[in-house]
Amino acid sequence: MTETDGTDAAARHYDVVVVGGGPAGCSAGVFTARYGLDTVVFDRGNSSLARCAYLQNYLGFPGGIDIETFLELARDHADAAGCEVVGDMVESVEREGEGEDSFRIETQDGDSVTADRVIAATRYGGEYLRPLDGDEMFETHEHDGEEHEHFDPEYADDDGRTPVDGLYVASPSGPRDVQAIVAAGQGAHVARTLLAEWRRADGLPEGVLANHYDWLRPDSEFEGAWGERARWREWFDEHADDADVDDERLSTLRERAVDRAFETHRSDKEIQRLTEEGHRRLAEHLDPGSLVEAVGSDAVLDAIDDDRISDYLEAEPGKRTP
Ligand SMILES: Cc1cc2nc3c(=O)[nH]c(=O)nc-3n(C[C@H](O)[C@H](O)[C@H](O)COP(=O)(O)OP(=O)(O)OC[C@H]3O[C@@H](n4cnc5c(N)ncnc54)[C@H](O)[C@@H]3O)c2cc1C
Repeated sequence: MTETDGTDAAARHYDVVVVGGGPAGCSAGVFTARYGLDTVVFDRGNSSLARCAYLQNYLGFPGGIDIETFLELARDHADAAGCEVVGDMVESVEREGEGEDSFRIETQDGDSVTADRVIAATRYGGEYLRPLDGDEMFETHEHDGEEHEHFDPEYADDDGRTPVDGLYVASPSGPRDVQAIVAAGQGAHVARTLLAEWRRADGLPEGVLANHYDWLRPDSEFEGAWGERARWREWFDEHADDADVDDERLSTLRERAVDRAFETHRSDKEIQRLTEEGHRRLAEHLDPGSLVEAVGSDAVLDAIDDDRISDYLEAEPGKRTP
């Protein structure tokens, strides 16, 4: 994970700033960065999960997973997808630019960056958003005779859109932020809302063409006519009735869509390479000692060519098992 101290991000402009690097924020960042948007995730480093004893209900971890490893995996994933992950707290988000069509984000460490879009994924404490819409964003309730103010979980709609153009909220999201896997799903969903709006601003009509599908496709998906650009152009035109752009622009968008479709293709050989790389990235997060005890050192070394495991075994030869 290349988590920086924030100084690298000074005065930079991003397509997307994600505030909060828990399950919702990291998941949102994975989607926007993989699409190709320049994305930074600011995280002050105190996920609600820090209070969870052990995570046993996140799909994909049959033995559950400890919180530290889970959060490292989530941030490493955001980093691998292309996000910059910055360990810093956002203090304020304000409108910026002549038409007030972008945002300025100030952090606790004194950094200042600008962005076209902001995704809030902080679960608690939305005070940093107040300059954008004041009291409208908050609700008050009484507890023990005292009035408390909270960011209104219904300020954003179910898709994360807010009354502030370009601001999306993934968390808090009412019932969707109370379990980690649901919060991750909501982060992805809100990122897809943002991407659909980004693509509509590019000229793509609402619906199938504006919606972004982050799918990788094997050889079988490009068999027959679908292996030809002509078939993908036809598919584009089948959904482009409502396009509100001139023919030249439509043609550019069509070719770009076909390029993107072919970019999703992964051959058997590439899938094999991705599988090995995926296992290697996962193994980086595992404690080599417990891994060796579980399956034996030779099995580990056969499966993973990992220098850290070799170093460990050389340093502690007694740990080798048959
Ligand atoms: C005691 C307890 C036990 C739990 N156990 C489970 C469980 O077993 N299984 C389960 O699925 N869920 C569990 N949860 C719920 C789980 O923690 C949440 O569903 C999940 O963490 C929500 O993810 P999130 O990304 O929305 O918010 P968070 O994980 O809280 O992430 C928000 C992130 O934003 C950061 N942040 C906040 N403000 C700023 C700012 N201004 N600038 C920069 N960063 C900021 C925070 O530091 C944090 O890292 C538990 C929660 C608690 C309290």
